Amino acid sequence: MRPVVCIVGRPNVGKSTLFNRIVGSRIAITEDRPGVTRDRIYAEAEWLNNYFILIDTGGIEPYSDDIILSQIKRQAEVAIDTADIILFVVDGLDGVTSTDREIANLLRKSGKKVILVCNKVDTPKTPDIVYEFYELGFGEPTVVSAGQSLGLGDLLDKVIENFPEGKDTEYEEGVIKVSIIGKPNVGKSSLINNVLGEDRVIVSNIPGTTRDAIDTPFTYREDKYVFIDTAGVRRKRNVSENVERYSVIRTLTAIERSDISILMIDATEGVTEQDAKIAGYAHERGKGLIIAVNKWDLIEKANNTYREFEKNIRNKLSFVIYAPIIFVSAKTGKRVDKLLQLIKKVYNSYTQKISTGVLNDIINEAVLLSPPPTDKGKSLKIYYGTQIGVKPPKFAIFINNAKLLHFSYERYIENQIRSHFGYEGTPIRFQFREKG
Ligand code: GDP
Ligand code: GDP
Repeated sequence: MRPVVCIVGRPNVGKSTLFNRIVGSRIAITEDRPGVTRDRIYAEAEWLNNYFILIDTGGIEPYSDDIILSQIKRQAEVAIDTADIILFVVDGLDGVTSTDREIANLLRKSGKKVILVCNKVDTPKTPDIVYEFYELGFGEPTVVSAGQSLGLGDLLDKVIENFPEGKDTEYEEGVIKVSIIGKPNVGKSSLINNVLGEDRVIVSNIPGTTRDAIDTPFTYREDKYVFIDTAGVRRKRNVSENVERYSVIRTLTAIERSDISILMIDATEGVTEQDAKIAGYAHERGKGLIIAVNKWDLIEKANNTYREFEKNIRNKLSFVIYAPIIFVSAKTGKRVDKLLQLIKKVYNSYTQKISTGVLNDIINEAVLLSPPPTDKGKSLKIYYGTQIGVKPPKFAIFINNAKLLHFSYERYIENQIRSHFGYEGTPIRFQFREKG
């Protein structure tokens, strides 16, 4: 699980410049794949082999010259809600402004780790104006020039030094982390309330982490689960606000922190583009996925209503073919127990380990059944495979020549492995390695 670093600050201090510099070419933009985030606001970043998620809160809403204070405050709130570390950017040419002070007040109250970044210091010598920023109460500003790429290494050193300890073991091993995702009004809060409101689960309290306030741990049939970021789901903000873009950030960070995501789809609306985008994200991040079609009580059913729905979903979300589909009603509680059982099942796939011996039996059989095609007299040889990881399951497959490997054959191997082991609800990953 990756720490989340948010950039905040008033307009024009250089947030997006800094974001782009840190993220570099790593930005998650892949035009030809569905569901990949295209906004330049959220990306995976890396420094000295430390991976983290970087968010530019200034990019959440489109800028205009008269960006209002309430908007800036909302961005700071998103950062406070989701970040492990906040980069508070100020402008070293302008000095301290009243808006800087307002943001500083919000951030100080949050108790979050804040690194004060003084940008636009384009010269090696630190100008006196920088010392003004001490008054904001975050100690010595880290001086950078995003424009000239100066000081970024020192800044990133500071960022990784402040990563929370034991981020990977936020919950004890075996606790199943679940996020409920989907567009507004699809029934996320209703589902959570239904699960927690009945006698079927025991809601527990795990003391200690700062995430307590937003996560809900519970026990179901002796297994421990935690709903990730339920506060974000349950908290209803003012409807007149444009909350949608903010909920994207929440959704992305919730997926990031969970093992399994339940994508809720509104039965009365069918699959929308936003649904596809969210599904794509869970897929890309290698998370388990369940598709829950909600409000099923509102649908008039004929003989093949289910199948029609399913077909439509498979069509539109073909890249997550492994995700099971379940038809529920958060309102009546129909099949909510089944959904909980399905989570457990998907978690088993997500963490499943198979022995090298068994894996190679399957691979050998697959190769015999359908040998790799030859290319100009050369043919792909698969030597052997071995599982190298879980969450999701990852395999290393040793081959003679990577150039001879075609996507369709890779897909074939995946399908053969799936047909033996199921892997319901989880993506599986392959690394093909050449071996002389
Ligand atoms: P944002 O509104 O906070 O995202 O700020 P931008 O990244 O869009 O930058 C605002 C303006 O400041 C742009 O014209 C940038 O080119 C400029 N800028 C950003 N970083 C630096 C810097 O390090 N030095 C100087 N001189 N200008 C910068
Ligand atoms: P959220 O924004 O995704 O958290 O959605 P809510 O849980 O607030 O639900 C939005 C609306 O849909 C509310 O009026 C719910 O009562 C209604 N709703 C949610 N689930 C169901 C369902 O399964 N059936 C019906 N008929 N209504 C539902």
